[in-house]
Amino acid sequence: MGTFFSNGTIWCGFQIYATSVRIENGLIAEIDGTALKDDEVVDLAGGFLAPAFMDGHAHPLFAGREAQGPQVNGLQTVAEMVAEVKRFADQNPNAEWIIGGAYEAAVIERGDFLSIWLDDVVSDRPVVLQAVDHHTIWVNSKALEIAGITSATKDPDGGTIARNNDGSPRGTLREPLAIDLIMRHAPDRTIAQDVAAIKWASEKYLQSGVTAATDAWVEPGMAEAYIEAERIGALAIDMSLFLLAQPDSWRDRIEYFTSIRSEIEALGPTSKLNAKTVKIIGDGALSSGTAALLQPYLDDPTSSGLLIWNNSELLEAAATFDRLGFQLHMHAIGDAAVRQALDTIEYVKKVNDNWDRRPVIVHAQLIDIKDLARFKALDVIVNYQPLWTYLDPMNKELIAPRIGEARNNLQYQVASMVKSGARISYGSDWPVTSYLPLTALGVPTHRQTPDGKSEPWSPDESISVEESLSFYTAGVAYQLFTEDRCGEIKVGNKADLMHLSENPLTINPLDIASIKVVKTYKSGEPY
Ligand SMILES: [Zn+2]
Repeated sequence: MGTFFSNGTIWCGFQIYATSVRIENGLIAEIDGTALKDDEVVDLAGGFLAPAFMDGHAHPLFAGREAQGPQVNGLQTVAEMVAEVKRFADQNPNAEWIIGGAYEAAVIERGDFLSIWLDDVVSDRPVVLQAVDHHTIWVNSKALEIAGITSATKDPDGGTIARNNDGSPRGTLREPLAIDLIMRHAPDRTIAQDVAAIKWASEKYLQSGVTAATDAWVEPGMAEAYIEAERIGALAIDMSLFLLAQPDSWRDRIEYFTSIRSEIEALGPTSKLNAKTVKIIGDGALSSGTAALLQPYLDDPTSSGLLIWNNSELLEAAATFDRLGFQLHMHAIGDAAVRQALDTIEYVKKVNDNWDRRPVIVHAQLIDIKDLARFKALDVIVNYQPLWTYLDPMNKELIAPRIGEARNNLQYQVASMVKSGARISYGSDWPVTSYLPLTALGVPTHRQTPDGKSEPWSPDESISVEESLSFYTAGVAYQLFTEDRCGEIKVGNKADLMHLSENPLTINPLDIASIKVVKTYKSGEPY
């Protein structure tokens, strides 16, 4: 027996509608037909049925790890953060270390958080909180003591320890090598903890209408946790892993990447897991002055930011992974990093054999006018974060003064990209920002805060909600090489569907965030 949906708006894909859909054995069986005798009939009650959302760029394991510690996300004062740490510590008396995140560093000028604030609530065990930028930690005195960090400790390469005038550590450490001074003393995470984090994150996704997502930062140990989650049935959604290649370690990891890909392929055709993509990070972020720009920053004319890879190393790494059949997923935020990524893809296409490679540039916040048409010309998919396309306080107060109004307002030229004919897909970048697709869906249209309380930002770059919905479904399916079975309601496709309380295409775009997910169907199974 199957399930028959009718009596609502059924959106099958861009400008394609149906009056009914019948699913059976996890697949779309019939469109615009009639219910069979034993079918379960679902009355959409005037609601909306569509292909489920797909998240083309996110970090669900990091989100799940954060959820296992104190929940300081979104808190706006140090007092609230410290109270949350105390609540967690009291409820978890056996936790040897208290590790959590992600706190908003901008609530304190210059972002130096002090260990003594945490000592007031926890002094017997180490506390480590990660900031939302994922490049900064705030720790208590016990953590500094265990790590042996004193006024005599030197800053590691590329990292800093925030200090008082006498050189003693204040409680904030920045960049990976400084963070590692603390974290190398923390107990290793167990696979079981990570499996629990993956289970939690994938269930959050299912509740919000998402049936496929990606992990865009996979280092050794993480893929193994995903494999275990898939084996024991804890992975509730389809998951594509992006293996992280870095300048200093990519050569040593080639063998690991190919062997973990084979191990995941060996899980068989019903497995929800795959690992066919290599992630490359080209630059940092505009807010911290580390995004790579073609013109210098205004607040520091000696700096144009930072390209993480030198050109020759990047060309060699990209060509190597492309030859091995990996898709490239390149983080580029500033216009210099976007150009470097485009140049790299152009080079790879020139030196390697032709194949269906589907390279992706993610974020693409600032694109030089000469480079915009190159996305279409080089068949590059641009993956945007829809929730980032409004003038938030970070853009207004941190980024605009650094790069000037004109450049600031050129961020996220989504309509220009649509007009250029390039392929677009969406990703949440969770936990950097919310994973909830309905919170983000209307933003590229109104370009205001999800609740409409800010001025529209560069409104000429606004696109339709229907375009956004297709970028969040079929756009991601294409990015993930699954457009033959996902992203549209078509006979033979997987019955990965979402039933929403209202039609987001006809409601006021400012009200889309209040639409409810009535049910998500993963391969026909309701959740
Ligand atoms: Zn990301």
